[in-house]
Amino acid sequence: EFALLNGEIIERSEAKVDVEDRGYQFGDGVYEVIRVYNGKMFTLAEHLKRFVKSAESIGISLKYTSEQLTDLLRNLLIKNNLVTGNIYMQVTRGIAPRNHVFPTGNVPPTLVAYTIKGVRPLDNLKTGVRAILTEDIRWLRCDIKSLNLLGNLLAKQKASEQGCFEAIQHRGQDVTEGSSSNIFIVKNGTVITHESNNLILKGITKDVILDLCIKNNIPVIERTFSLAELDEAEEVFLSSTTAEVTPIIGINGKKIREGVPGPITKKLQELFEKEIEKQCGV
Ligand code: PMP
Repeated sequence: EFALLNGEIIERSEAKVDVEDRGYQFGDGVYEVIRVYNGKMFTLAEHLKRFVKSAESIGISLKYTSEQLTDLLRNLLIKNNLVTGNIYMQVTRGIAPRNHVFPTGNVPPTLVAYTIKGVRPLDNLKTGVRAILTEDIRWLRCDIKSLNLLGNLLAKQKASEQGCFEAIQHRGQDVTEGSSSNIFIVKNGTVITHESNNLILKGITKDVILDLCIKNNIPVIERTFSLAELDEAEEVFLSSTTAEVTPIIGINGKKIREGVPGPITKKLQELFEKEIEKQCGV
């Protein structure tokens, strides 16, 4: 297995982190997870754009153009023979004596990427998953894909301990997003999901779904919805790079639609698969 470290593809076991890397000490960096189907990167341009934007929003400037990054990631895929799986990529503010203040001078950011083999979650896609509700205790810049994930981890762990796949977070009565996914409901036949502002991550999968809705005349709106609306929803599903369009069939032990995925969710799964075929030829 190989990893990418600052522009070079090296043995993964040789890719080492300094104890004073700011990502390691402060979570001072941002990341992306890119899905690979059939050896091809799905929605790569969108992921690279978000990566650059996240980095810029905390004052890290990448030393590579999107074209250079694309070439580096392609080479990594080939080296690792990745057919189905994920690429994990992160950039940190680099290595400097520990200090909350950003380092001055020419500290180069640390860029790392590696690959993880993994099939599509076919069982979850077919039968759906269960979720819990939990108060969103995170900061107010959830739009940045930051390495600081403690709030998300605590939420996901709570779900896992209750035998559930995801934690649906809410700020007071307003549903925000999952611990590692965006949340959608269907109400009166309309797909509703939280608007992309500072309170959620603007999911690449979410944007693909919004686009598919518009192109296929499925009514859709981005707006905040409440816990009450979630409770009364006709259908609920989540989206992410790795989970695609996953039906949610129960929340806090209460079944949704008798515990079976709904028709609009299934339609969007079908359309999403076609999109994968279109981009990656599977
Ligand atoms: N919200 C959060 C908090 C996430 O971690 C993720 C997964 N990256 C998402 C939403 C979904 O984003 P995407 O569709 O780009 O994977």
